[in-house]
Amino acid sequence: MKKLFAVIGDPIAHSMSPVMHNDLFSLYNIDAHYLPFQVKNDDLQAAVNGLRAIGVGGFNVTVPHKSNIIPFLDGIDELAENIGAVNTVVNEGGKLIGYNTDGPGFLKGLMTQIPTIEGKKILVIGAGGAARAIYFTLAKENPRGIDIANRTVDKASDLIQSCPYPVVSNAYSLLEAENHLADYDLIIQTTLIGMSPKTAEQPIELTNLMQQALVCDIIYNPLETQFLQDAKRKGASIQNGIDMFVFQGALAFEKWTGIFPDVIRMRDNILTQLGGNSC
Ligand code: NAP
Repeated sequence: MKKLFAVIGDPIAHSMSPVMHNDLFSLYNIDAHYLPFQVKNDDLQAAVNGLRAIGVGGFNVTVPHKSNIIPFLDGIDELAENIGAVNTVVNEGGKLIGYNTDGPGFLKGLMTQIPTIEGKKILVIGAGGAARAIYFTLAKENPRGIDIANRTVDKASDLIQSCPYPVVSNAYSLLEAENHLADYDLIIQTTLIGMSPKTAEQPIELTNLMQQALVCDIIYNPLETQFLQDAKRKGASIQNGIDMFVFQGALAFEKWTGIFPDVIRMRDNILTQLGGNSC
């Protein structure tokens, strides 16, 4: 019988996950189908129970349910628990177990451009949900330090305080981060600034950027934010949000099927949907 996989969120119509996963099921001859479901906050528990009752193989969870879903699951792995957010659920013998592949997906994408982050000095801009997943994941990889800069500095301090992994970190304002920029090997932009339709904005000026730095922006619409264009002009290497999106999906697919999929094909598929070229 055909297995059901899904993504739940609100809104959900824009999600590129169905096209990406359905293409993989067909590539690997797996008799399964992946569907998007719009689920309102008040219906979340009923939706999770319904998916369990019909024997769903697994599903992704997106905004606004990544944290709220936790009490309705049967278990959660350590990283997802520490992050406080789930983006992938696996049906393990009738029990729905939550994982977070956002942070590990970002790290895997990063590894396509640099061999290791051990010893690197890192700046994360933003202190929201995505920053939290990335910060906790990178904190386990022995960087020299990871500082967090955010519009609301208290949120950056709270994030640092809540990290269970030992890492040297400071909380900064966006202006302070601009002034310290020459200290960093790797800069990761995780705020909403620069996202379509407000594409002319960037969260900080890159005047003090080191030419050898790698600058990432986890936004993928547009494919090259103002921030990445500026970094490229200053001679730095850049990475956009496609890699994180593709690798979080690849890790979810691996958890559901045991197969680590063809990420180049996934990337091309997403780029076709977005109608652009990679950077
Ligand atoms: P979130 O939890 O709402 O966090 C938003 C962050 O943006 C906060 O740090 C917030 O600062 C900051 N921010 C918002 N408006 C700002 C403004 N006008 N000026 C300065 N800072 C501002 O969002 P999220 O879930 O972390 O998502 C963040 C971004 O990551 C989105 O663009 C999302 O599409 C992208 N994302 C990409 C992937 C991927 O696979 N590539 C995965 C997840 C998310 P305050 O704390 O001061 O409010």
